[in-house]
Amino acid sequence: MTSFAAPTCTPAPTPSRPSFRAAAALGASLVLAGCAQMADAPPAPVAAPTTPVACADLARALPERIPNLRVLGAEPVPEGLTVGSMATPAPRMPAHCRLFGVLNERKGVDDLPYGLGFELRMPANWNQRFLVQANGGSDGVVVPAFGNVVSNGATTNALMQGFAVLSTDAGHRTVPPQQAQLLGGVLFGLDPQARLDYGYQAKQTLVPVAKRMVAAHYGQAPQRSYMMGCSNGGRHGMVAAARLAHEFDGILAGNPGFNLPKAAVQHAWDIQALSRVNPDVKAAFSPSDMRLVAGSVLRACDSLDGLADGMVDNHRACQSAFRIEPLQCQGEKTDACLSAVQVQALKDMFAGPRNSAGERLYADWPWDAGVGASAIGFGSWRSWKLEGPVAGLPIIGALGAGSLAYVFSTPPQRVTGSPGALMESLRVFNFDTDAPRIFASDRNFRESAMSFMTPPDPTNLRAFARKGAKLMVYHGVSDPVFSVNDTINWWDALNQRHNGRAADFARLYTIPGHNHCQGGPSTDQFDMLSALVNWVEKGQAPDRVMATARVGANADVPGNWVTADGRPRTRPLCPYPAQARYSGSGDINDGQNFVCRAP
Ligand code: CA
Repeated sequence: MTSFAAPTCTPAPTPSRPSFRAAAALGASLVLAGCAQMADAPPAPVAAPTTPVACADLARALPERIPNLRVLGAEPVPEGLTVGSMATPAPRMPAHCRLFGVLNERKGVDDLPYGLGFELRMPANWNQRFLVQANGGSDGVVVPAFGNVVSNGATTNALMQGFAVLSTDAGHRTVPPQQAQLLGGVLFGLDPQARLDYGYQAKQTLVPVAKRMVAAHYGQAPQRSYMMGCSNGGRHGMVAAARLAHEFDGILAGNPGFNLPKAAVQHAWDIQALSRVNPDVKAAFSPSDMRLVAGSVLRACDSLDGLADGMVDNHRACQSAFRIEPLQCQGEKTDACLSAVQVQALKDMFAGPRNSAGERLYADWPWDAGVGASAIGFGSWRSWKLEGPVAGLPIIGALGAGSLAYVFSTPPQRVTGSPGALMESLRVFNFDTDAPRIFASDRNFRESAMSFMTPPDPTNLRAFARKGAKLMVYHGVSDPVFSVNDTINWWDALNQRHNGRAADFARLYTIPGHNHCQGGPSTDQFDMLSALVNWVEKGQAPDRVMATARVGANADVPGNWVTADGRPRTRPLCPYPAQARYSGSGDINDGQNFVCRAP
């Protein structure tokens, strides 16, 4: 750990990789009233409290102390605000200070304005913790910094729990659709620095500065720092565990797309497989076709965990117990069977992409009971693979195609932003000549997508583990975007590299039926942030995290998933390789009657 000693009267530059304590000390030093006080004060390993700066004064005070910062607003928000994506009735946010602005503004090679846009929400009743809310998709928007623990239906969030929460656009702004059609979220890929900021540098730069801003407002630095996100936000968490171990005490990574460029190659693989069934991809499988598959998985696999309850907890045994071939029609296609070309398409998709030499380009995918989920939103299997909310296209086509071309390929591949052109770009994607572009760099784009998007050495978390930090990862078994098998493979390799002791600092929770960060016939409502805090700060290892099915609010959850006394089904989420097992007595909808056990 670097020390922060003997401060001088010249303004200290931001160290490129400061330790937590150094950053905290530096932050506090910059909010001291005068440099003379610093020179006279003995070196302190931990920042001493300073005079807090009131919310309304931050706009004036911070730019005087932090270079290249433009504050766009600092406003007290009274208690009572509700957040739309949370549970019904939505809980009310506590009184807090909302600070928003942009750091390091610059003009890109495309002449567009760039900078690290951010928002900090700092509760009046602060728990002395700092949380980075890592956002999803292609970033590009400063999502309000509430720190919602679960994307949909959360009953609590980090702000309510007293965290100061940071959100950022990761260095670029989405271009309005009237200028870019469906490419607005990915055109930043033409600017080399914007790519790096999206990948990891925005957080690397902004996090220590945000800690200084928090310290200024409260008059003391955060005692603990966390990160939390799902999807691309889960990727940010995985990257931070490897690159920014010095900044964080705990990281919660949901459905992590930590091999996002490889997953984008899968998008092309899927669209080509589905197009062989029907060029109108949404017609390749009807909702009832996929419900047929899900029902067949349940028939083959539900009881492998010892209880027929509509959930496949033993998803590993399921992969050899379930076979798709018997679903093939013997004669005419009906609702009770799949055509031969449909069966082949699913086999190809679940096997994952390969090039003509047979080399695997991403991961394979497990059969699970959540593949029939069909809500048209940003979570369900159907919306990602077949029919989503944008132009009736699967999200992997409407949004994923642009990412693959503009952000993950080097050099960027220009396509137009019409729905048809984007789908066509995936249909003509060549797995021998186009797929290697995710590993390519050139004189303008010095880092490949696989370099800037993924953890540099994903199974080496020694620095993170050594400082006592903890990583919790959860992943839906029916995630249609990022394969849970990719995450399981990562954890197995991590555990091997750490001599079978990875669970001391990193745990993976696989959630049966769960789709992408939300939904599916699953228990998708839980508070893993509190479990993480208890692990980090109290040493309470999260051997199980109780989760609830959102009966009524999640259309994929059967209405009979309720206890005899009317409570929604609960289940323990178990650290892999453990799975939830019925203890043999008591209400099967009450998670207290289940234990976590390895199969
Ligand atoms: Ca079961």
